[in-house]
Amino acid sequence: MRKKTQLIHGGISGDDKTGAVSVPIYQVSTYAQDGVGKHRGYEYSRTGNPTRFALEELIKDLEGGYRGFAFGSGMAAITAVLMTFNQGDHIIFTDDVYGGTYRLVNNVITRFGLEASFIDTSDPANVEKAVQDNTKAIYVETPTNPLLKITDLTEVSKLAKQRDLKLIVDNTFSTPYWQNPIEFGADIVLHSATKYLGGHSDVVAGLVVVNSEQLADDVHFVLNSSGGILGPQDSWLLMRGIKTLGIRMEEIEDNTRQFVEFLEGLPEVTNIYYPGLDAHKGHDVHQKQARGNGGMISFDVGSGEKADQVLRNVNYFTLAESLGAVESLISVPAMMTHASIPSERRLELGITDGLVRVSIGLEDIEDLKEDFLQALRK
Ligand SMILES: *Cc1c(COP(=O)(O)O)cnc(C)c1O
Repeated sequence: MRKKTQLIHGGISGDDKTGAVSVPIYQVSTYAQDGVGKHRGYEYSRTGNPTRFALEELIKDLEGGYRGFAFGSGMAAITAVLMTFNQGDHIIFTDDVYGGTYRLVNNVITRFGLEASFIDTSDPANVEKAVQDNTKAIYVETPTNPLLKITDLTEVSKLAKQRDLKLIVDNTFSTPYWQNPIEFGADIVLHSATKYLGGHSDVVAGLVVVNSEQLADDVHFVLNSSGGILGPQDSWLLMRGIKTLGIRMEEIEDNTRQFVEFLEGLPEVTNIYYPGLDAHKGHDVHQKQARGNGGMISFDVGSGEKADQVLRNVNYFTLAESLGAVESLISVPAMMTHASIPSERRLELGITDGLVRVSIGLEDIEDLKEDFLQALRK
């Protein structure tokens, strides 16, 4: 089954009993048992719910894994995965991971005795150097936010296998439509489904897919024990969003490519970060492991004042955090998502005051170009 068909027919489609073409919303907490200890697959909805299960089956199929899990947010999903490790274990993270992941690791998880290193995983040699005796996993994002840095999944998974480490990939930016890390040796793939998978800025959710029975047991044990599950209504809404992921990602790809070409023609704009550009660092690696470049672009408009001017004057780009929606979104990382990083460190990382990040949506590309240009030249 090809990806677009799988988005519609993957997982569990519809309802056998009635012929309903969409999976019913099982708004229920508990299930009648036929006898003590004799149930029909469901006992209590924290442990399992049929609507959530249909979503979990769908994401499992889309990522080509062994089993899927749905959580109340991307952060709940990441927390559950990290809670499968033990006190004293060490995990290597991509240095520019999502800000919320950085905060979770530094301010919550490490309080319970997990150790973490943050390194530039775009060079596999750095990963090798960071491995310690107690290292148990490597956690990467590729591409990253906001500079779209690329990590070679094949190289890093080779290293992980040699050292008996788990490779965890946050696949939020690429989505399973463009990139399937398990194919390249990842053990656990996770998503903030709040972004492209939901796609309409109307649901907060997280998904996890694992590649083995052992990991499935470990993650389900934490899910059931800690309880950060996704409810049936949101599970249904997410399945509804996922059905159109293919056409959305294709259209976003097309819009983004055209917007990048437009930016290249503007003298005010420098340093365009977009994995589809030949000159982008990691371009070749990205083309090997992904089928599309996504809808995220970062670029420099010269100064913080200029960036502020653009953001104040655009009409069709919504000034907001988040990404991956039908509406185009715009932000200035130095003033928003990365404001807590000292300015010297920000500059070292390449996050200048004039760096603008956009998430291209489904508007007519000519409107987006005209709108951006009038805001830039006001
Ligand atoms: C948004 C995001 C998260 C966190 O997900 P929530 O659904 O907001 O909890 C994690 N990773 C990446 C890459 C994200 O963009």
